[in-house]
Amino acid sequence: MKSYRKELHFSTKTRRAYINITPQVEAALTESGIREGLCLVNTMHITSSIFINDDESGLHRDFERWLEKLAPEKPYDQYDHNGYEDNADAHLKRTVMGREVVAAVTGGKLDFGRWEQIFYGEFDGMRDKRVLVKIIGE
Ligand code: ZN
Repeated sequence: MKSYRKELHFSTKTRRAYINITPQVEAALTESGIREGLCLVNTMHITSSIFINDDESGLHRDFERWLEKLAPEKPYDQYDHNGYEDNADAHLKRTVMGREVVAAVTGGKLDFGRWEQIFYGEFDGMRDKRVLVKIIGE
């Protein structure tokens, strides 16, 4: 069995952002040389998410509005976590949107449905963040 590991780096210009990282994951898969196996993608931070969904800008605005209803960023003092930090909403949003995804690898490709794309969801950006890609198989 082969094993491959790569870190992707992101530093968004805004506090929140949704980035389609499917091309970077596909590039990692090609680099790995693995044809059959599993591909794990997880954020290495507790205020960002990895999730699979549609690459459609209206849907991304819907995510943004929905998450702001569930866990509004402001006022900061509504959260117990916000003593030295102001990112309680980011921890909550990340929990809803998830930490990682696992995709099947078949014939050297991500074995996805028609509209599936992998996203990095940033909820407390403007700093360097890392995403781990781990691929195992043969
Ligand atoms: Zn925090």
